[in-house]
Amino acid sequence: MASRINLSRLNRLHIRLMTLLSLMIDRIFTVRDIHTALRKTLLWSLIIAVVAVVATQAMYEVFLPDIMAEYGTQLRIFAFLLTLAISVPFVGLFSIVMLRMGSFNSQLREMARRDGLTGLLNRTALQDIIRRRGQEPRSEEEEEDALILIDIDHFKMINDTHGHAAGDHVLRMVAVSIAGNVFERDHTARIGGEEFAVFLLGAGASGAVKAAERIRAALEENKTYYEGNIIRVTASLGGALFPREASYNTIFQGADFALYRAKRSGRNQCEFNGLPAIWQSRKNPDAVGDSNAA
Ligand code: GH3
Ligand code: MG
Ligand code: MG
Repeated sequence: MASRINLSRLNRLHIRLMTLLSLMIDRIFTVRDIHTALRKTLLWSLIIAVVAVVATQAMYEVFLPDIMAEYGTQLRIFAFLLTLAISVPFVGLFSIVMLRMGSFNSQLREMARRDGLTGLLNRTALQDIIRRRGQEPRSEEEEEDALILIDIDHFKMINDTHGHAAGDHVLRMVAVSIAGNVFERDHTARIGGEEFAVFLLGAGASGAVKAAERIRAALEENKTYYEGNIIRVTASLGGALFPREASYNTIFQGADFALYRAKRSGRNQCEFNGLPAIWQSRKNPDAVGDSNAA
């Protein structure tokens, strides 16, 4: 038992040390912009040159003390300037390589967060945003967040009628339309083939219902032009409010259940899980006036 406790303590210490080390390495080697690259090049070149001066002085004092006594200052200046002249281009090159790698890494990270077809967030990125949102400090007065799932109606028929490429084109148009009908601070994702989701920040019941209806109406009005054909789609939407303490899975299931209801009750409509009937959106836009949008 005692050895187990010691081992777990040791593990924690090990993890802390490794975290500290990786933070230090990150601070020392990560170069985020050209100014940092220049600053770090100069700093590291100076450090290397000073070390070279100290090493030269120590070597001469041990092996050639007479020369050190006679030419000490010149030797120190020479060692400093020579090392500086050699280290600046090398460290500079290293900094530029680190800068390139840094930007390449952030491009890769961004690509991993995005859906390739539409450029929207993917499901994993959306889950990550929602998880981090749950950890943020929030004021009591702030309205609740909301999750809305959007599923295009009879999308298979579009593929079957116009072809898969046309279907892809429609998906891109739908993505633009959804993202254009929520606030910039909200998060829009493609979470499956013809399924999308928006995570509305601080929208509250009224804002979420209005946003859902806005998206539904925009998609209904949308026309996609593809090889001389006009393709129109509708979508069914299911939403749920997202109380701060709720888990992603619970809210996702709630919204999915509402989406299922929207499909069952005729498609091209929005349903909300857990909201009183007064909040249920109707196909008629008058039911949820747009003047005071989310
Ligand atoms: P419902 O109204 O019940 O949602 O019917 P639906 O046809 O939209 O749903 P279903 O799940 O039967 O079909 C979804 C279709 O979406 C089938 C699949 O081929 C198509 N799909 C999924 N991903 C893509 C994609 O990336 N591009 C294209 N063009 N089609 C896709
Ligand atoms: Mg579907
Ligand atoms: Mg569908």
